[in-house]
Amino acid sequence: MLLREGRHLRDRMVGLERNRRCVCLESGKNLPYDVLSIDVGSVVPPLAGDNAGLMAVKPIANLAVLRKAVEERLATTATCDVAIAGSGVTAFEVAANLVALGARLGGKIAVSIYGRKPLAGLPPGARDILIKNLSQRGVAIQCGMDVMGADGHCLLLKDGTRRSYDIAVNATGLIPPPLVSTLGLPLDDHGALVTDEFLRCEDGVFAAGDCIAFDGKALPPVGVHAVRQSAVLLDNIQASLGGGSLRAFRPRRRYGSIINLGDGTAIALWGGLWMHGRMALMLKDFIDLRFVDR
Ligand SMILES: Cc1cc2nc3c(=O)[nH]c(=O)nc-3n(C[C@H](O)[C@H](O)[C@H](O)COP(=O)(O)OP(=O)(O)OC[C@H]3O[C@@H](n4cnc5c(N)ncnc54)[C@H](O)[C@@H]3O)c2cc1C
Repeated sequence: MLLREGRHLRDRMVGLERNRRCVCLESGKNLPYDVLSIDVGSVVPPLAGDNAGLMAVKPIANLAVLRKAVEERLATTATCDVAIAGSGVTAFEVAANLVALGARLGGKIAVSIYGRKPLAGLPPGARDILIKNLSQRGVAIQCGMDVMGADGHCLLLKDGTRRSYDIAVNATGLIPPPLVSTLGLPLDDHGALVTDEFLRCEDGVFAAGDCIAFDGKALPPVGVHAVRQSAVLLDNIQASLGGGSLRAFRPRRRYGSIINLGDGTAIALWGGLWMHGRMALMLKDFIDLRFVDR
């Protein structure tokens, strides 16, 4: 059987009745299925406290909300203090682009990054370039300590200090949405859906993307894996409807990523190799725009 057309329902999955092969939707409707695929992505874990003025980097649409909030603040005052909780690549990329936004708007966005170890996992050379680039552009990199919470427009650090902010960004990592742990499907220790090499959780149920532990092991939550899984997922859904054989997904051991620094340059990473400059940004735009066009 070939899947020939799709239908988009504006709704949310809130539960699963596996015995009746039915997805429960937020609208109260039930959606029957022959084969199900669960691809609900990931969420940022909330911090302790009231989280006032704190925006998570996911869903990605939040970044547009962040930008609007900064623009509105700069329209009424000359400065905006932005604190970023988390010190990974996402935190640095958001910080770099906030500084660039401030320069474009003619206001000052004072950005501080708080987290344990900056850019853990990056090649040391690339890490040094990123830290130097952001420090020279005025970003305060205040690492060495976990952020424990966000309360009353202050980040709470592990040693008890409070750092006030106008706007804060939660970039402390990605976890599977809590929904997936309520479905009765196998989970790993981090609450991700365990799939086999065919992206199958159990007979008739597949899953892909950030919310899975592929073949029992979590892959890094990057679009490269999610996008490459989609072709295998489609083949396997069709195979399970038509009685064909399933295809295994083979994750790439090495893949590239490109970090936009907002100053007309980017850092491209490939395994332990990296390149910084305008060419890297041109490459990112080329790859991303071609993907979106397709
Ligand atoms: C700031 C940032 C920058 C990134 N940059 C890159 C990059 O440059 N390159 C890269 O490879 N990766 C990047 N990533 C990672 C990449 O975004 C993810 O790995 C990728 O989006 C995962 O795809 P996905 O389909 O699993 O999840 P998502 O893209 O998150 O999609 C999940 C979808 O499921 C929907 N959904 C969630 N819950 C429900 C529900 N209950 N019912 C119905 N629908 C639901 C969501 O609305 C969403 O549309 C970045 C991530 C962040 C946060």
